[in-house]
Amino acid sequence: MSSPDVGDLEEQYLLAALRSGWVAPVGPDVEAFERELATRVGVEHGVALSSGTAALHLALLTLGVGRGDVVVTSTMTFAATANAIVYTGAEPYFIDADPETGNMCPELLERALRRLADAGERVAALVPVDLLGKAVDYTALEAIAERYDVPVVADAAESLGATHRGRAAGSFGRVSIVSFNGNKVMTTSGGGMLLTDDAEVAKHVRYLATQARQPVVHYEHTDIGYNYRLSNLLAALGRAQLARLDEMIARRRALRDRYKELFSGVAGVSVFGAEGDEHDNVWLTSILVDSEVTGWEPAELSAALTADNIESRPLWKPMHLQPVFEGPRGEINGAAEGLFRTGLTLPSGSALSVEQIDRVGAAIKTFLNEQ
Ligand SMILES: *Cc1c(COP(=O)(O)O)cnc(C)c1O
Repeated sequence: MSSPDVGDLEEQYLLAALRSGWVAPVGPDVEAFERELATRVGVEHGVALSSGTAALHLALLTLGVGRGDVVVTSTMTFAATANAIVYTGAEPYFIDADPETGNMCPELLERALRRLADAGERVAALVPVDLLGKAVDYTALEAIAERYDVPVVADAAESLGATHRGRAAGSFGRVSIVSFNGNKVMTTSGGGMLLTDDAEVAKHVRYLATQARQPVVHYEHTDIGYNYRLSNLLAALGRAQLARLDEMIARRRALRDRYKELFSGVAGVSVFGAEGDEHDNVWLTSILVDSEVTGWEPAELSAALTADNIESRPLWKPMHLQPVFEGPRGEINGAAEGLFRTGLTLPSGSALSVEQIDRVGAAIKTFLNEQ
């Protein structure tokens, strides 16, 4: 669906790092990668980490989130967002989605913050998520967060390369995080980065990620630390991927345009979030199927594709419907659940060859003709 897209440039960067002898989680490629990505999104500091989840965890800890706190987040997300909140001992509080974008609904957020403030509960952070590569309406969300004096940790794991009103995803909130997991727009096989303008936050995150070692030779510790750094080899891979980011996004966009064309005459099917997607990174392309109109369910198309050895998947199952998060509260109106029931994500990766894309297109056409 979204496999890694690597070639000669990645090989060249990775080999150069290996031959340089910098095989440790420190080295010139880590520093260069942090600088290059921070510059690309327009913030002062980047801290390269072992995953996007690690970046979320340390961002929350550094903002003082802990036991007894409430952290407000999107229900329409990958589990890593909610897991990182639980790691700190805080309780996730889920907000439902805008049905057009799947991103956190500002009205429901406002209602939740008012309700929590009235109840005298401390909301330690707000974690909005840029779903499938579309930046959240940060203009609306940041204004609300400011009114309630809640710091924002932007989960931009899926949206590197996207913008909101000309500003890059990864530059919003007190802190943003991005992911370089193997299925994201660019990858280090596994990795992430914390991005911020706040020098103190960046310094503290770096300290926690390095086992919270005090700057003395005898390993002195006054805090619980983590081993969350990114290796220099993987940072080198990340630099090559970053150099190719725009080219890879352009390939994903061409693929989405094909799906738009393919489904343009099919009543009851729309490409999810396609309205105004020119500022997205189009990480994954999903369709929404109104089965009352089509007469078929998304699961039937998915089964036909699976029979042809083509991967597809429902949209994220919302967090409030996950057995592990049963109990946590939220502001839920059914929009995310509707997207989960009607959505299907199609092969979207930039590594797909022309032949593979043609094969997917032909399989979809065959399915539609048989209906
Ligand atoms: C991928 C992802 C993460 C986690 O990133 P990892 O690098 O895989 O730990 C967090 N949040 C969202 C929304 C994601 O899609």
